[in-house]
Amino acid sequence: MKLSEAINSRKTFAIISHPDAGKTTLTEKFLLFGGAIQTAGAVKSNKIKKTATSDFMEIERQRGISVATSVMGFMYDGMQVNILDTPGHKDFAEDTYRTLTAVDSVILVIDCVKGVEEQTERLMEVCRMRKTPVIIFVNKMDRDGKDAFDLLDELESKLSIRTRPLSWPIGIGPTFQGVYNIFNSQLKLFAPNKTKVEADTVDIADLNDPQLAEVIGNEPADTLREDLEMVEAIYEPFDRKSYLNAEIAPVFFGSALNNFGIKELLETFIDIAPVPQARDTDVRKVEPLEKTFTGFVFKIHANLDPKHRDRIAFLRVCSGKFERNQFFHHVRLDKKIKFSNPSSFMASEKSTIEEAYPGDVVGLYDTGTFKIGDTLTEGEEMQFKGIPSFSPEIFKELENLDPMKTKQLEKGIRQLTDEGVAQLFIQELLGNKKIIGTVGELQFDVIQYRLEHEYGAKCQFRALKYHKACWITSDNEAKLNEFIRIKTTDMAKDKDNNWVYLAPSEWILRLEQQNFPELTFHTTSEFK
Ligand code: GDP
Repeated sequence: MKLSEAINSRKTFAIISHPDAGKTTLTEKFLLFGGAIQTAGAVKSNKIKKTATSDFMEIERQRGISVATSVMGFMYDGMQVNILDTPGHKDFAEDTYRTLTAVDSVILVIDCVKGVEEQTERLMEVCRMRKTPVIIFVNKMDRDGKDAFDLLDELESKLSIRTRPLSWPIGIGPTFQGVYNIFNSQLKLFAPNKTKVEADTVDIADLNDPQLAEVIGNEPADTLREDLEMVEAIYEPFDRKSYLNAEIAPVFFGSALNNFGIKELLETFIDIAPVPQARDTDVRKVEPLEKTFTGFVFKIHANLDPKHRDRIAFLRVCSGKFERNQFFHHVRLDKKIKFSNPSSFMASEKSTIEEAYPGDVVGLYDTGTFKIGDTLTEGEEMQFKGIPSFSPEIFKELENLDPMKTKQLEKGIRQLTDEGVAQLFIQELLGNKKIIGTVGELQFDVIQYRLEHEYGAKCQFRALKYHKACWITSDNEAKLNEFIRIKTTDMAKDKDNNWVYLAPSEWILRLEQQNFPELTFHTTSEFK
């Protein structure tokens, strides 16, 4: 296949949502439309239930499901659609942020009853930061939710983005009958059917067609016409460029469970969503059309079988062509490596691939050569950007419970943090004290369990009262050294040997920023 053809026929995206909004159900409906699965229920939720904290195997089992569904691909209308799965649980938010570095666009699912929820706001922040184009899908219209116009206002104010409805609900709750496709001025009414995608449809192209009232009733037909007039009066016409620049989010309404509005969403997505885009490195921008291969690792997943310590590294292809058994350059290690068994993941099936193109995600078997963010090229020295560490929210000191197993503990904690399970900060000046930073409590259970079962090391954690980790830089070396000296007990090095200040409270952080105006306090690790 020609490179340009491959690129122009690929759409790589993620579906994101606050837990329970309907991400899994929507994913499944897309796969049904794409023919990747035949019946509903084939896609398992990757939800991790908090109640299962003590039952660690249950968490691992549930995480296992998320490996199988890490990337789901299907063909639709000549287009290779790659859906990257993201964990909904907030303790795994960093996983989700990293996955967002590997997509070209996002569909954000909102529950029409609950509106914008906490996780929705955070996820949207990441999209805004990266300028990722977002389509919003307002789900569960079969339930008594908020009024569509009110919802649009809420989306705009809470998510700080302009919206533009491209479909419109006919009724809501018990009176919900389907959606009018504003994008192509079409009305298709589906008979609700939860397991199949074919259904009886009625096509109405003209809103003044008397058939409209016959099918949906007089009153709903009037309301629909009035609503649509209002939409056209309030909202600017849809402009694809503004969407691709992440300035405006097209909005669709529907019910994933009942298959209402899903085809409209999918087909418009295929039409307007971006194909694989260029990506920044520390030296230059890389265009997907470049002949030489480049890619980066955005996720590493450990094997669930403790007898095999191997892991799967997920690589996003950024330019050129990835080929099986060809030597590539591992930039960080300055090493040539080849892959005899690269995999693709199509729904629940995994298969070996011969080649992959920009926008594709390849699973590489790894025995510890990869860290999150690693770059592969055909020889060029560069590193893809945009995979920062964010400041953790919970900090604990790692205490070794078995001095005979110190080596195993060191190795284990290095490998686990390379995988991105948590962040490791080391206080070299204080006897190499190890501080683990995470977004949620669940990770500490994960670390403790895996250190013991995979590395034979026993540990415990001691809670530390830190507010944030700030990466510190300055042009004024004397001042930087002074700060490090004064703050020795709160200073640590991250995995790349950068200085990090662990601020005990928001108040103290602000104070230090005033006391040391020569220093810059960064809340993410990417500041070069
Ligand atoms: P996720 O946590 O975002 O992946 O959400 P799920 O897809 O697992 O859905 C959460 C719950 O909402 C499940 O019980 C679904 O059956 C239900 N659900 C999903 N879509 C709809 C919908 O359109 N209408 C209604 N009433 N329920 C839905």
